[in-house]
Amino acid sequence: MIVVASSNAHKLAELKRIWAAAGLEFEFRSLADYPGYPEPADDGRTFAQNALIKARAACAYTGLAAVADDSGIEVDLLNGMPGVRSARWAGVGASAQASLELLIAQLADTAYEDRTARFNCAMALVAPDGSEQVVSGVMPGHLVLEPQGSNGFSYDPVFVTDGQSVTNGVLTDAQKDALSHRGQAARALVPYLREALG
Ligand code: IMP
Repeated sequence: MIVVASSNAHKLAELKRIWAAAGLEFEFRSLADYPGYPEPADDGRTFAQNALIKARAACAYTGLAAVADDSGIEVDLLNGMPGVRSARWAGVGASAQASLELLIAQLADTAYEDRTARFNCAMALVAPDGSEQVVSGVMPGHLVLEPQGSNGFSYDPVFVTDGQSVTNGVLTDAQKDALSHRGQAARALVPYLREALG
């Protein structure tokens, strides 16, 4: 048994879908199965550090091999921010909509070709024997200032990945999974997951 260190239903469904499409179907627990789990502060400076913090804590608490991811968007005009602060860009407890609106406001009066950005994802697998793996994925693209589409979440309606003409908010789940930072990282983890599952 493996635990995925998240209680975000959207993320859990996405991972299940990506692993199934990669030929790996297995039951896993999530933090929803551990009420009262003391979540560690994900205060690392990089996506990889945060993924490891979350996976180590979940492994130590549950005694199971644990998978955790950390992700965010880096905007070149903002010197790589929001980065690891993506989920809290408009402040701790602020809504995803507020963070999206703040990002759009910060990019007012800029040219499309200058609004290069990328989603990043680091995914860690930590096993009770102390072994650790970290893999990553990157989804490069541009930001638009008019939100488009209602699929995906958070910054998806303003992000057009390279090679596409519509935002992630318009792509289907399967299209986004095939291209996304999280899809790449989750697929890179498959051989290690197979090993951990025995
Ligand atoms: P965490 O990895 O759960 O800590 O959250 C990362 C944050 O990065 C999310 O709350 C979003 O703001 C942003 N983010 C990460 N991946 C995506 C994505 O695929 N689409 C839109 N926003 C994303």
